[in-house]
Amino acid sequence: MTTLSGGCACGAIRYETSAEPVLMLNCHCRDCQQANGSAYAAIVVLPKGAVQLQGEPRYYKTVGGGGKAVERGFCPTCGSHVTAKLERIPDVLGLQAGSLDNPSVYKPTMDLFTTSAQPWDCMHPDTQKLPQGLPG
Ligand SMILES: [Zn+2]
Ligand SMILES: [Zn+2]
Repeated sequence: MTTLSGGCACGAIRYETSAEPVLMLNCHCRDCQQANGSAYAAIVVLPKGAVQLQGEPRYYKTVGGGGKAVERGFCPTCGSHVTAKLERIPDVLGLQAGSLDNPSVYKPTMDLFTTSAQPWDCMHPDTQKLPQGLPG
């Protein structure tokens, strides 16, 4: 049974999974802000092997403050950001919440890198706030 599906704006990249998300988080780091052109990246984290991906995202790699790389995947045709790979947690795949067919299922429990959160960005009072990335 498919629990989550989605893709880019033009349909060249599609994904689906029957796995439950490991985590849903908002990342306010500067790299995510630049990549998304917005206040933060809303990311659904899934076990990598559980996601069926169609199409070939193009990846752009940045190295975060902790020295570990993040690769953000986007559609080479329409430019939509769809996926994210983390060097630190190689067995997961991040999916951009806005790329979901039903984005309303997104329920973040954490805000990361709140030290670079913007003053025009309002965070939900109930989420866990971490000044940097995930601990450990
Ligand atoms: Zn596309
Ligand atoms: Zn980030």
